[in-house]
Amino acid sequence: MACQTELNCLHCGSMTTHTVLYASIYIKQIACNRCAHSIEKPPLVLMWQYCRDLPWRAFALTRRLKGEALSHPILFASSLPKRMVYKPIELSRELVEVCL
Ligand SMILES: [Zn+2]
Repeated sequence: MACQTELNCLHCGSMTTHTVLYASIYIKQIACNRCAHSIEKPPLVLMWQYCRDLPWRAFALTRRLKGEALSHPILFASSLPKRMVYKPIELSRELVEVCL
């Protein structure tokens, strides 16, 4: 995923539009749209951050699912099959984004 934002370019020295590229929830690269100067996070750092945060995210997901199951059991039960299919796909996509 990419988004546009105004940042002070280290190369141009002025406020310009930058493209911020995300891998999962992490910033992977920031590039100035005027001069094309870019800063990229090293892939190993990105993978380390992803692996470091994954257990915490799994724990948070478990807590969220428990809360949903207790507060809206029918809605939770009806959404579970879809989630069980899409969550591994979502995690696979994240891993590809982070590693490539
Ligand atoms: Zn620039």
